Amino acid sequence: DKAKRKAIIAGNWKMNKTASEAAVLVDELIPAVKDAACEVVICTPFTDLVTAVAKTKGTNIHVGAENVHFEKSGAFTGEISADMLVDLGVEYVIVGHSERRQYFAETDQTVNKRTLAALNAGLKVIICVGESLQQREEGVTEELVRMQTKIALRDVTAEQMANVVIAYEPVWAIGTGKTATADQAEEVCAQIRKVVGELYGETVAEATTVQYGGSMNAKNCEELLSKKDVDGGLIGGASLKAADFAVIVNAAT
Ligand code: PGA
Repeated sequence: DKAKRKAIIAGNWKMNKTASEAAVLVDELIPAVKDAACEVVICTPFTDLVTAVAKTKGTNIHVGAENVHFEKSGAFTGEISADMLVDLGVEYVIVGHSERRQYFAETDQTVNKRTLAALNAGLKVIICVGESLQQREEGVTEELVRMQTKIALRDVTAEQMANVVIAYEPVWAIGTGKTATADQAEEVCAQIRKVVGELYGETVAEATTVQYGGSMNAKNCEELLSKKDVDGGLIGGASLKAADFAVIVNAAT
């Protein structure tokens, strides 16, 4: 029952927007999404977080990072810890984005470690899962997404699941303009909910937000979001334009 869970529309800015540019975009977003019925999140580069947190204070926009390291502190040059994000006032973090897995060698195991580190520090986590085109063509989407979801959630407690969002992002649909059909999105989002149910029971599964991501835009969002197991979206390209992002936010209930 969709009414039992929170729809979340999250922007994933990726490696876009300097801090000065972020200030402009956030100023445009604030009035454009102020009447949203869903939860609105913007996940920005680390260098934009201070600006985003300061500017969104007292608004309905929540701020997230795009990655986090799993160690608490120490000799990990160039990395950012969960405590560092929490101290800034950051609320969310994306983990396991396919670009991190593809270009930065992240594995299901490190995605799990990041998830645990973020949850234990008090962050809300958006865990990304999804198959490549080759995996879809080989017919292993369900098994692959099941495995990614199960490993990412290892040692996450039922209570912590209240702070977990899972984003189904087929790799072939990301940044390609090739959106999954609403039925394809629904099928895999429902499978993810089933896995959550097997791990944590029906009540947790029914309460868990499962997003779709991959070329969701102002034109196709309504159909995707109308599906019963699609509880929101993780938006890349279309989150960089305030007007487009607002259309998606305002389509989510
Ligand atoms: P896209 O990216 O909307 O540009 O396809 C989605 C994502 O990678 O989260």
